[in-house]
Amino acid sequence: MTEELRIKQDILECGRRLYDKGMVAANDGNISVRLNDNEILATPTGRSKGFMQIDELVKIDWQGRIIEGSHRPSTEMLMHLAIYQARPDVQAVVHAHPVYATGFATANLALDQCVAAEIITTIGSIPLARYGTPSTHELSDAVVEVMKNADACLMTNHGVVTCGKNVFDAYYKLERVEHYAHIIFVSRLLGGEKLLTRADVEKLNAIRSTYGTQSDANPGCRVCEDSCVGGDCACYEKKDDVAMQSLLQDVMNHHTDENDLIRSVIEKIIRDAEGN
Ligand SMILES: [Zn+2]
Repeated sequence: MTEELRIKQDILECGRRLYDKGMVAANDGNISVRLNDNEILATPTGRSKGFMQIDELVKIDWQGRIIEGSHRPSTEMLMHLAIYQARPDVQAVVHAHPVYATGFATANLALDQCVAAEIITTIGSIPLARYGTPSTHELSDAVVEVMKNADACLMTNHGVVTCGKNVFDAYYKLERVEHYAHIIFVSRLLGGEKLLTRADVEKLNAIRSTYGTQSDANPGCRVCEDSCVGGDCACYEKKDDVAMQSLLQDVMNHHTDENDLIRSVIEKIIRDAEGN
């Protein structure tokens, strides 16, 4: 069996599991795998992910043009391509609408508090991406803004997207997000989840590498200098600001003849990163 055929079979298997577990309805959801620098394998639009055939998968290029296959790719490939471009470490992306996690997304509630050991070690923070109209740059920009620092995110008033080093890795993260959302839902019925301490979260973040999840692109659950842990911490944004200011100063020190140009380019990058 060729490597490409094995990957196609894995996509079909993950599609079946998404459908069988009720994480998508009808023709919803989409899966893709990065094959190489020029080719992405994508699930077809308008087909149930529970009943796909090998020859229905579509091969596309970085512009979303069909290279191989008689079906059209999912309309959400714009978002998948944007994630691959922002995250060179990512080889697969899965998007679905699982009930509990999408419930949190439609209530506009992130799952970014540090409360469950297994989630901190395997995924980390699960932020909420701002709303964007499906299949537009508005959505892909919103998702990439948070996925550059996370392997899973809730999409406001829409669903969930996860990424990983292969299709099963991305799929299992989606399964974990849904299971976790269900747990948080139950804990809120019982009075609400309780935050782990900063020391406990630091210990869990430290052992993430043994789970293969330590990565600069996914720094894990948020811990600040003070006792703050979880989604309410603003320290990550502050660190980003400090790093960008230091980069700006460094460039200024070395390119005095082109200061104005460089300053304006970097300021634009900062504005784009902030979504302004
Ligand atoms: Zn969707």
